[in-house]
Parts: sequence; structure tokens; C-alpha cells
Amino acid sequence: RATLGVLGGGQLGRMFVHAAQRLGYFTAVLEPDPQSPAGLVSHHHIQTGYDDPAGLAQLAQLCQAITTEFENVPAQTLHTLAQTRPVAPGAAVVGIAQNRIEEKARFTACADVSGVSCAPYAVIETPAQLQTVLDERAELLPGILKTARMGYDGKGQVRVQTAGALAAAWAELGHTACVLEKMLPLTAECSVLVARGWDGQVVSFAPQRNVHVGGILAVTHAYEGALPPALADRAREAAVAIARHLDYVGVLCVEFFVVDDGSEYGGLVVNEMAPRPHNSGHYTLDACDASQFDLQVHAMAGLPLPQPRQHSPAIMLNLLGDVWFAADGQLREPDWSAVLRLPGTHLHLYGKVEARAGRKMGHLTITGPDAASVTTVARRVAEMLGLPGLDAM
Ligand code: ATP
Ligand code: MG
Ligand code: MG
Repeated sequence: RATLGVLGGGQLGRMFVHAAQRLGYFTAVLEPDPQSPAGLVSHHHIQTGYDDPAGLAQLAQLCQAITTEFENVPAQTLHTLAQTRPVAPGAAVVGIAQNRIEEKARFTACADVSGVSCAPYAVIETPAQLQTVLDERAELLPGILKTARMGYDGKGQVRVQTAGALAAAWAELGHTACVLEKMLPLTAECSVLVARGWDGQVVSFAPQRNVHVGGILAVTHAYEGALPPALADRAREAAVAIARHLDYVGVLCVEFFVVDDGSEYGGLVVNEMAPRPHNSGHYTLDACDASQFDLQVHAMAGLPLPQPRQHSPAIMLNLLGDVWFAADGQLREPDWSAVLRLPGTHLHLYGKVEARAGRKMGHLTITGPDAASVTTVARRVAEMLGLPGLDAM
């Protein structure tokens, strides 16, 4: 029986394991945490660090092909595994996605084929570069200083209003390699999931509109009309062009900003990419005939990629650990039965042992016959559970 491997044991790995198992594969998860969401449901759970030679040898020995769900897996790990097994996505492209400086350079390099640019930015790696920005790039303020590496869910970012605050912000981030990005007047955010096979075959999902609260994804709107059609088409074409440009294999998520039309940025701006399935694509599990995780399995295993079809309009609501805390600060499991009594509600819980504020514990997807009824149910769910972001842009 063939076994598929995944580096990382979080919820993305868990949903990958579910999809692989449905096709009859065995799975192997490499993840140090003994209680991880993916490790708990996998046939094999290799409990070592991502750079442990014995763990990697065992993974390679067990698996027909290997993927990653953890964005910051060391590139060397992927190199090592790729010497004996197909690894998708590859070390080079994961390395690019791990570093905002390289990522933006690649987005810029393919802007002529993708048709989208990054927000105006400057690299700050040295005091001299900081000085140059202060002297010559006043147009980047107000801006956001972001660490080049390891940031996620808005962590590793400082908003900077004035030139005076920039040096302090860089110190706050430990003088590590950063990019300063101009703060754009966003009218919306969206993302596109693309899957590309070893043979270059590409399929994609329609773009979804995302709402972040406090730098963390809160809501995904996935239905016709969630985005202007022309903009959605452009985002989809741009994401496919980027996947091709990177010679990407596997599932790729590209995040975009939407800025006011008539601006110098032309409406659509590319933000960043994730070299894996993405939280904003979780609705595909319940609303499409093939999910982002199905496509991840197909792509890495060398199976044909079906063009996914969305059969239901959907809204996805993230369930952060905050929902587990009552007003008095006590932990309590939310009343799921009240939620599940409403039509079209699909509850996904990741099996995490401990609820913490800001921790992704699960998500709810609401499907229905049309966007209006999905929105009505989503509002009631959000009200019941105190979930933010539904009525935000
Ligand atoms: P993720 O968890 O998606 O990987 P991240 O920590 O890598 O997030 P970004 O995607 O760069 O961070 O930024 C998080 C959010 O902050 C964005 O989705 C957007 O809402 C806001 N943001 C980031 N950069 C800008 C910008 N230049 N202008 C306006 N808003 C921005
Ligand atoms: Mg990111
Ligand atoms: Mg992001």
C-alpha cells in the first residue's frame, strides 16, 4: 500500500491526511509534538524534529512522495528528502515563500506575465539601508515593517506612522532583515488557490474574499458576487501565472490586496503566497467537488488534477480559541448543537488539546442554495458564538 508523507502536524496536515486516506493511501506525519492534529489521525507518526536525520530517513523510506504543511520547514530538509523521493512543493520555491525579500523579488520579476505588482516597498537589512529609506523613501510612510522571515497571522509586523518611529520599529523587531511596505488603502482582500502537477497541468479555484481581524483570517466569502467578476478573473490569472513562473508543483495560495480603483496600483496588488493549502481554502471541503487537500494529494502523487467545481455558495468562519473562553475567563466548549441545528453548517474541529486566545481550533463552513441564505445563517452563527469580521469589509 502506498504511503504519502507530510512534514508538519497541524490542522493543514490533518486535512491532508483525511484526503489521502479517502483515496486509500497510508500516511506518515513527521512532527515533534506527540499530540498534534495530524499525528493523531495518521498511520505513521514520526516524532522527531524537521532536521533530524533519522526521522527524515524513516520518512523517505516509508513514503512514495512527500509534501509539507508547515511553511517554515528548513529548506535543507526538503533538499535531503528530494534526493530519494518526489517532494512537492520543492525546496527552492518553499525557500522563496519563507523570505519576503525573495518573494517580492520573484513577484516583481514576473509582474509582466502576472499583471500584478507588490505594494511599494524597501528592503531594510542594514543601518545604511534604514538611512536610505529615511532619506529617500518618504512615500512608504505610513507603512508596515515586516520581518522577512517567520511572520504569520500578523506577527513580526509593526505599523509605522512616521520616520521617527521607523528606527524604533526596526529595533523592536531585533534589527533582523525586514521589508517596509507602504500601507495601502484596502477595499478588500482576496486569495486564489492553484494546483499544479509534475507535468505542468494547472487547475484553480475561483478567488475568495477574505476578512482579517487583528491580522488573523476571520471570514472567507466564497460565492459569486463576493468579488467583482473582472477583478476575480484577473486575480485567478495572476495566481496561475505566478505558479507557472515558479515552476510550482503542489497547491499554492496567493494572497492579494484590493485597493480603490483609479489608484496608481490598478486595483489588484499581490501580497504574499503560501506554499501549501491555506486557511482561506477550507470552504472547498464542503462547497466544492474536490477540495484543496484532494488536489494536494493528486498533485504530489502524480494523479490527474480535476478542475474543481464549486457546487454551493459558502462562508467560512474561523474558530479561534477565544470562542472557548466565557466572559469570566473560564474555559467552556461552545454549544455546537445550537449551531448545528441551523441549515448548512459544517463544523470542523482540529483536535487540539488546549484552547488559547488566537489559536486556530477549528472552522465552520456554511453552505446553502444562494449567497443570501448563507449570509443569513452565517450572521446567526456569528452572533451565537461572538465571532468577528462578518460585516467587515
Ligand atoms: P498570514 O497569516 O496570512 O501569513 P502574515 O503575518 O504573513 O499573514 P500579511 O499577509 O503580510 O501577514 O499581513 C496580514 C494582514 O495585514 C493582511 O492580510 C492585511 O489585512 C494587513 N496588511 C498587510 N500589509 C498591508 C499593507 N501593505 N497595506 C494594508 N494592509 C496590510
Ligand atoms: Mg504570511
Ligand atoms: Mg497573509
